[in-house]
Amino acid sequence: MIEKLKKLNILYVENISLKDFTTLHIGPMAKLILFPSNESEVHQILSLCHPLILGKGSNVLINDEKEIEVVMVLRDFKKIERVGTVIYAQAGALLMDVCLFALKEGLGGLEFAYGIPGSVGGAVLMNAGAYGGEMKDVICEVKTDQHIYKQKECHFDYRHSIFSENHECILLAGFQLKEKNRELIEMKMQELIDKRRQKQPLDQYSAGSTFKRGNDFYASQLINECHLKGYHVNDAQVSTKHAGFLINKKEASFRDFMELIKQVQKIVYEKTQKNLECEVKIIGGEDDLCQ
Ligand SMILES: Cc1cc2nc3c(=O)[nH]c(=O)nc-3n(C[C@H](O)[C@H](O)[C@H](O)COP(=O)(O)OP(=O)(O)OC[C@H]3O[C@@H](n4cnc5c(N)ncnc54)[C@H](O)[C@@H]3O)c2cc1C
Repeated sequence: MIEKLKKLNILYVENISLKDFTTLHIGPMAKLILFPSNESEVHQILSLCHPLILGKGSNVLINDEKEIEVVMVLRDFKKIERVGTVIYAQAGALLMDVCLFALKEGLGGLEFAYGIPGSVGGAVLMNAGAYGGEMKDVICEVKTDQHIYKQKECHFDYRHSIFSENHECILLAGFQLKEKNRELIEMKMQELIDKRRQKQPLDQYSAGSTFKRGNDFYASQLINECHLKGYHVNDAQVSTKHAGFLINKKEASFRDFMELIKQVQKIVYEKTQKNLECEVKIIGGEDDLCQ
């Protein structure tokens, strides 16, 4: 299969570590990473295999003990354009760039997303959100390799969408925005990015908030109350700046990170009877790890 993929005349790299493709800087070797540049190339790849699709790798924890065969990264799907008050962005475009484009066009509604370091594809799949907004509030349409979905068909829920289940490849998303004064948009974006810089360990390897918010609690608050800031398993550590962020100080492995997740979950449960559910996507399983 690898040989067939290599013959497709699509840009690829071979035998490369996925560490540099994730913001946690944890990952195994991949036999092949493909960088399709158009939809036809995506279809050709999908007709031969089921690759791991990565955006900016800012919400994944990948098992570094199992080699991954094929990865597909839509980094060349970067086009962003405006049609009326809708912005259409290809899946590999940075969400931050979509926010800046909206600002330039004087279109409001996406300010909440400024600072989320993912791609459009990853943000749609995760229904990414912050400061009271979520993708579901602004997405009007999503195109995948199979179908064009209207907002309601995306089944958006907290950090979840139909794409979390159906393994389709997201190619493009439409954001329904509203005309708004540019200065007001910019002020909001600046306010939110300042908050992030103040509260989040942006100079460390992380995947953002490791755990989901509960119905009646914030994970970071419980972890803080359990005095776990700075708690670590080797280089995997609960950030001293933001208790909701588990970070890789330098050389943490998947095993270290999983062990830290489990210990934090256990301690928080023992002290508060609350279950912390992972927001970060764990890829490659951990069947034989951390027993
Ligand atoms: C410092 C920091 C701050 C963060 N703050 C926030 C925040 O405020 N709010 C928030 O919600 N998240 C936040 N995150 C998490 C993360 O940035 C978001 O979840 C983001 O939307 C993930 O996008 P990505 O491109 O990195 O996806 P990836 O991590 O690459 O992938 C996430 C999932 O989507 C899948 N995927 C990616 N692209 C496609 C595609 N084209 N088609 C099909 N599947 C695809 C992957 O297979 C994977 O399952 C933060 C992360 C960091 C590191």
